[in-house]
Amino acid sequence: MNPGITNVYITTSHRFSRLVVDSTKPLNFSVIKNTPKNYEIILDGPLIMAPDTIKVFDGLVNTIEVTEKHQKSVIAVYLKKPCTFQVKLEGQVPARLIVLFDRSFIKNLLNNRVFLIDPGHGGKDLGYKGYINLLEKNVVMDIANYLKQELILYGAQAVMTREKDIVLSLNERINTAILLEAEMVISLHVNWDKNIGVRGAKGTYFGEPGKILCEAILEEMKKKSKLQNLGVDEATKLWKIPESHYLKKIPYACIKVCTISNPIEEGWLRSPVFKKGLADAMVNGIVNYYLGNKKD
Ligand SMILES: [Zn+2]
Repeated sequence: MNPGITNVYITTSHRFSRLVVDSTKPLNFSVIKNTPKNYEIILDGPLIMAPDTIKVFDGLVNTIEVTEKHQKSVIAVYLKKPCTFQVKLEGQVPARLIVLFDRSFIKNLLNNRVFLIDPGHGGKDLGYKGYINLLEKNVVMDIANYLKQELILYGAQAVMTREKDIVLSLNERINTAILLEAEMVISLHVNWDKNIGVRGAKGTYFGEPGKILCEAILEEMKKKSKLQNLGVDEATKLWKIPESHYLKKIPYACIKVCTISNPIEEGWLRSPVFKKGLADAMVNGIVNYYLGNKKD
């Protein structure tokens, strides 16, 4: 079998973004640092696979470009943030080159922070309903659970306003945030529109920190889940609730994750992979908020 690259992909855990390069035989390679956020791995063998651009957006690795130049394979890695990495080799025929990019900066940012996740509606309050009868109260609960699990993996304390299918008033939800002294509150809802063609995600904020958080989360959801960003607006109904000034001081974001009245997006909301992807994108947005929402 001719030497060459057969497969390039990335898997992400809370510790590492793990780049895997499979080849038919072990190949000589070199790693070139073009900038602190751009590395090239050059392997002594052609591509057996097609050239590819992989959109990763896992909070550390943005994209990977796989190309061939003069019988050599070039794997360009574009990072969101400079980080350390280690290289490992596995196997002989086939062979595997693994590059582990260190994600510990995320844990350092989120460790011990107190998050309140607030899945909307519950109990007899069903929220919106899709054409094929998907209920908002259940969808947002699934996403809230994924988000909670992710935040806990990064060492954060994540609490939910409801763990069960129960009715909660807005006041009860706000009081939980105050009692918990939550540093950040994320409410989860879906969008609904009488026009069946409308698609995308929206955000509602109360104070200035929340506006920045909303925009950071929607931006990441657009990159990762290809959701149209329908923009943000202010939660004016909170003006009437005296306790809600707590939500004004902290980053409070109400994210309408998808438009359930659109049958395509309702379909997406049935997929566990899609819902987990939304939670991952939200964590990326939260990280960007703490990094100062720098665009890159
Ligand atoms: Zn809702």
